[in-house]
Amino acid sequence: MTQLRKSKGALLKVFVIAILLLGVYISLVSATDSGEISAVIYPLKLSGFSAQIGTVEIEPPKFPEFSAQINTAEIIDTQYLKLVNRDFAITKPVSNTLLLYAWQSVSVRTKCIQLHKTALQALQELFVAAQSEANINYLFVTSGFRNQDVQENIYRNAIDRSFVMPPGHSEHHLGLAADILTPGRTLSSMVGSHEALWLAENASRFGLILRYPEDKQNITRVAYEPWHFRYVGRIHAWYMGQNNFVLEEYIAYLQEHGGYQVALNGKNYYVLYQRPQNGIIFVPENMDFNVSGANTGGYIVTAWR
Ligand SMILES: [Zn+2]
Repeated sequence: MTQLRKSKGALLKVFVIAILLLGVYISLVSATDSGEISAVIYPLKLSGFSAQIGTVEIEPPKFPEFSAQINTAEIIDTQYLKLVNRDFAITKPVSNTLLLYAWQSVSVRTKCIQLHKTALQALQELFVAAQSEANINYLFVTSGFRNQDVQENIYRNAIDRSFVMPPGHSEHHLGLAADILTPGRTLSSMVGSHEALWLAENASRFGLILRYPEDKQNITRVAYEPWHFRYVGRIHAWYMGQNNFVLEEYIAYLQEHGGYQVALNGKNYYVLYQRPQNGIIFVPENMDFNVSGANTGGYIVTAWR
């Protein structure tokens, strides 16, 4: 079906271009004949036609609310849902302006740990809830944002690389991932601990996901890491929790189904996966929204009201 639509679109495109070329040819010939070559006319005609080609090719959005078009070159990519794993490397480093020193908001192992401001806010709320709801005190961040050099170092010196991604492939490059510990526990003694179980159960309420669960190692291709949490945003963390998806499964699900609409905590959320067509994706006109590249050629638009 898509194939058919594509080939129809391609045929139409060829037809439009042929007509256009004929028009340009006739104009040129007549212009040359009369001795007045006016270059201004053609760009105007061309831009009119190319706009038409653009709209012919684009499939209608899944939600009628997504009625505005935006060029992907103009998107501010939050990277909240960017898939970064053994197969997908980061596409651009997180902007320095988005990184904050974590010690200003949460307990940390060292003062130099930085995190994306949105992830840091979520962690702060998570730590407060851990204390008030489960009497889990003194959670601290042992690793946050890492640049490529730091990751290179960790990777080169790692004894067990089932836990460590090669440089360029770590979520820590996004500033959206944090490793969480409690005093007196090593990473390995977090496994099965009261703290780890509470975190796994409750992080999604704050937009964070346990990124490498024990039962999904065949999909993530990373060993179970009860300490590693990734910020994706509340609605996505909730949906993944409901369906027992890891990020790889969630992105694949969105690719296949396009998206979903859900009412949660008094808000209506619209989530739509889109592959840009002629560099264009659809966004809503009258709703708040953000856009994250998925790192798979598509973009996920999240809107709410
Ligand atoms: Zn980690």
